[in-house]
Amino acid sequence: MHKFLNLTIVASVAMFASSASSLAETGRNLANTISLEANHVDSFRNFAPELPQMRARVATINTDFGLHISEIEPRLFFVTDLVYQSAFVVTDDGVVVLDAPPSFGENLRKAITITAPDVPITHLIMSHGHRDHNGGGQFFADIPDLEIVAAAEVAETLEKFPLEGVLTPTQVFGSARELTIGGVDIQLQTANFHAEDTDVMIYLPDQKFLMAVDTITPGEAPFMNFGATTNVNAYFESFETFLEYDFQHFLSGHVSILGNRQDVVTARDYALDVRNTVYGLMSGFNDLFINGLKAVEFQNANLAYRFAMESIRDDCAVKIIDRWENELSVVDLWADSHCETALLYAVMH
Ligand SMILES: [Zn+2]
Repeated sequence: MHKFLNLTIVASVAMFASSASSLAETGRNLANTISLEANHVDSFRNFAPELPQMRARVATINTDFGLHISEIEPRLFFVTDLVYQSAFVVTDDGVVVLDAPPSFGENLRKAITITAPDVPITHLIMSHGHRDHNGGGQFFADIPDLEIVAAAEVAETLEKFPLEGVLTPTQVFGSARELTIGGVDIQLQTANFHAEDTDVMIYLPDQKFLMAVDTITPGEAPFMNFGATTNVNAYFESFETFLEYDFQHFLSGHVSILGNRQDVVTARDYALDVRNTVYGLMSGFNDLFINGLKAVEFQNANLAYRFAMESIRDDCAVKIIDRWENELSVVDLWADSHCETALLYAVMH
């Protein structure tokens, strides 16, 4: 029995009380608390292990400095520390770096030097301005004439709110830009599926390589709340935009697995299933809310509202887990957050 079933049963037995042990442990009435104790009612042991088909695809560290590096197409290298992802392409004129996460920025520089010892690093292209994906720029700051390419909106954001380690762009563009660097075509196109200012899709047509960061997590359910997207609707619509490109490799910025076309299709189907499930359950919202209001004798509408939200969220999560637990890892860990994000969007729009 997975955790959500437990929580749903608890919730239906005692409408507003979370598990007694959570209450006892924290002194607060918080639901969904994961305990690291094996025998706790909210134990981590109630969550399913990662799926074997996902484990089989996990990248392994193949350097002595803690990185996985693989040449996925001629002269195009995929790099991961198993948590963050980046890439670089060795062109006839120099190396082009695609994102420099701070977690391995220094070792990324080392990886490039080892892979292409006599080739200068000429460009750093940023998928978006967030520090966790480009704060490693500082390890490239000493390179003379390094071009730092970003969307104009990202440059504006960084001017107002500089982020540690993120370099100031030297080349900016509006909605789209095409570059040819040392014989390699690189197409940049802005989108709004994640960051608060803008995201950039990075496409190398000859390599059939598409990079759109903080989107999917290949082999796994999306991260909490669909990766904290700032634009839920654009996030849901983004998959079709990705699939319009002719690509085989999809670099999404997280986990150790480099994505492919099927991963994007699966992520789309998952996200749309969450959205449709929430919309299907919304018809019961009013009855749940009224029941809650009656239970609290019309004294606390917020509490009744939250009860209705949680009921639908948990019903949705159980359905999603049942349908997806053999397709994607960690669905039972994050499905409630996906349902909650979709639900909040549905009631607020
Ligand atoms: Zn981000």
